[in-house]
Amino acid sequence: MKKIAILGAAESGVGAAILALKKGFDVFVSDMGQIKEKYKNALNEHNIEWEEGNHSTTRILDADEIIKSPGIPDNAPIIVQAIEKGIHIINEIEFAGRYCDAKMICITGSNGKTTTTSLIYHILKNAGYNVGLAGNIGRSLALQVAEGCTYDHYVIELSSFQLDNMYDFRANIAVLLNITPDHLDRYDNDMQKYADSKMRILQNQKEDDAFIYWADDPIIKKELERFGIKAQNCPFSILSKNGMIGYIEDGNYHLETPTPFNMEQESLSLHGKHNMYNSLAAGIATRLAGVKDEDLKKSLGNFQGVEHRLEKVASVCGVTYINDSKATNVDACWYALESMTSPTILIVGGKDKGNDYDSIKPLIKEKCKGLVFLGADNSKLHGALGDMGIEIADTHSMNDCIKACCQMAKPGYTVLLSPCCASFDLFKNMEDRGEQFKELVRNL
Ligand code: ADP
Repeated sequence: MKKIAILGAAESGVGAAILALKKGFDVFVSDMGQIKEKYKNALNEHNIEWEEGNHSTTRILDADEIIKSPGIPDNAPIIVQAIEKGIHIINEIEFAGRYCDAKMICITGSNGKTTTTSLIYHILKNAGYNVGLAGNIGRSLALQVAEGCTYDHYVIELSSFQLDNMYDFRANIAVLLNITPDHLDRYDNDMQKYADSKMRILQNQKEDDAFIYWADDPIIKKELERFGIKAQNCPFSILSKNGMIGYIEDGNYHLETPTPFNMEQESLSLHGKHNMYNSLAAGIATRLAGVKDEDLKKSLGNFQGVEHRLEKVASVCGVTYINDSKATNVDACWYALESMTSPTILIVGGKDKGNDYDSIKPLIKEKCKGLVFLGADNSKLHGALGDMGIEIADTHSMNDCIKACCQMAKPGYTVLLSPCCASFDLFKNMEDRGEQFKELVRNL
């Protein structure tokens, strides 16, 4: 019996373990941290052997194949040893893809993955498609396959960490939204390595597949010169319509293939430049999947957006509060600021991933009346943004942050939480940060 070791026992690892068991493998699950109760229960129900707080090296290195959680870096000692021993290391999506012949619509990029994935799923679901959702979002693909789900399409959000351990998986419709610096700590601070990882979404595509990408992105442009596209070429842009399958022109949203489609930009439910890209990508992908024009128009107009992404929380005493806690890098904050239409108080800070704040300075100058720093250590922010000539507050808890915002904001202002940074210094995760923000705003 072939042996599979699964490293990391959360959503993807446990799903992979259950699928591997169903497919007749000898399965062992190992997690260096503590496994959540619900995942322990799922493993126990299937009599799958597991361990936590440790990696039993001999047993793991005896496996024929390893399925690794995307959260485990390649320099973790157990992975280094597995690579040295020549053990094939894959991820859960690669594994599940072996047993699933649904059409795969896969979305990657530095920013916008969850929004675009959710929008594509929303459009297909509302058009009556038999469609599943997987990847970084929702339930694991492997578990759905193990449970015998028979969807015709899957919409799958793929991070660079997932793509790193994918080899044979084929995206029938691939969406590449953008490539901007993120997670460079996991790529030896080498932007090329990170870009290479994103471009893996193209691997294994055939002529009858489609590749949808943001044609204005200089990094994608450069990478495509090296890689070439085998699949149907589907670029989108908001700067030009030449050769584009999707573009914005004179306040209208246009798609070209298979027949011309357009609607007023104002009727799209998502706003902001970045969301034009996301809406173009989603429109192209779903039309390629056969969605009718009237269904597309309706769904692009009634999509509710995703929590923690430019989410309007409330208006209190004439001040609008927006939760963009998911903006964990500078580029995401740039787009949030770009979409602001009233004087803004920006909340920024947290665990810095090697950020360079220069790109947002012009927008801060143009749009912001104040900055509220929110982090365990705000010294880098004071150095980078302390000389903008606007009011600054230094805070170390959401409570103090909201108080500072209330003092700065006048009626007609917007308070924007779009922190550029990860949340782990003061919060459990970005959801916790966004929820604390919303709760305190609602109690004002
Ligand atoms: P991801 O899943 O890639 O992290 P999300 O949809 O969760 O993307 O959005 C993350 C952050 O990036 C949010 O702050 C959101 O407002 C911003 N954002 C969304 N789409 C884009 C885009 N196409 N380009 C740049 N920023 C974006």
